[in-house]
Amino acid sequence: MMENATGPSAVAGSKRAPDRITDSDKPEMATVDKIGNLISVALPFVAMIGAIVLFWNQFVSFTDLSILLVMYVLTGLGITVGFHRLLTHRAFQTYRPIQYGFAILGSMSVQGPVNTWVADHRKHHAHTDREGDPHSPHVGHGDGLKGVIGGLWHAHVGWSFRDHGLADEKKYARELNEDPGMRWISKYFLVFLVISLAIPTAAGYLISGTLAGAATGLLWGGLVRIFLVHHVTWSINSVCHFMGTRRFDTDDESTNVFWLALPSFGEAWHHNHHAFPRSADNGLRRRELDPSAWVITGLEKAGLAWNVVRITPERQHQRLAGNLPAGPP
Ligand SMILES: [Zn+2]
Ligand SMILES: [Zn+2]
Repeated sequence: MMENATGPSAVAGSKRAPDRITDSDKPEMATVDKIGNLISVALPFVAMIGAIVLFWNQFVSFTDLSILLVMYVLTGLGITVGFHRLLTHRAFQTYRPIQYGFAILGSMSVQGPVNTWVADHRKHHAHTDREGDPHSPHVGHGDGLKGVIGGLWHAHVGWSFRDHGLADEKKYARELNEDPGMRWISKYFLVFLVISLAIPTAAGYLISGTLAGAATGLLWGGLVRIFLVHHVTWSINSVCHFMGTRRFDTDDESTNVFWLALPSFGEAWHHNHHAFPRSADNGLRRRELDPSAWVITGLEKAGLAWNVVRITPERQHQRLAGNLPAGPP
């Protein structure tokens, strides 16, 4: 399906999220949520330090890195293809069990329950780089170097402790909230967190046959992998709204960052994404590598995805900065 998709993309069926809401009665995050987020952010960081120490003392095994890679790819695609392009933006349609499969893989990347993630991200699109954006580096941090550093910190990780999960799910993720399967996956997020650690632990044990193998499987395939996926995802919020290239006429500060393209599975073509939020392809040029789009095309060819939203070259050309057709007087 070719579509001239523009603007905030909180589209699901006929339900479109509102472009603006007022935040005068902005809720506060519960203390337990703040503590939970602190642990989920700090623990993988501590594990990373531990992994480096271990790395110096005893070389990490090929098995550990293989488990890390498989878990990184599966849970990373759960976020990029699942949480983001499929469930937030409806860039393609697929069977319900596949939707749930992606929702579970995304949950295993430990970025909060699926319905919360989708609501926060749709709010980001509805208010990009303006008041109400949960994680803009450009709002409310003042000028000068202090403002820049404060803004980047907030966009990268600080928002997790202040603004994460505050978007109204009934408003921003209504159709997911009305889906009993998605509500169940959201509700049992902690179970998927445990599974996300149990799988690499079990794999390490089964391959090595030792408890030490189970421990390093947990460390590299579990905690270090969560740390890496966290920071690559957060870099889309911070780096890709701060430095990089732009070419379309968008009302925000989004950028394309080529060196993040492969680790983020194509999400770092983030300026393209803000120009055409519903597009299944974030990489719009031949050299803009976009592994998530390759997966969607693969699903399409296998008959497992349909109504894949793609942007015509003509439509892309129309939106190039300085190339807009004359509007009404
Ligand atoms: Zn953005
Ligand atoms: Zn998006």
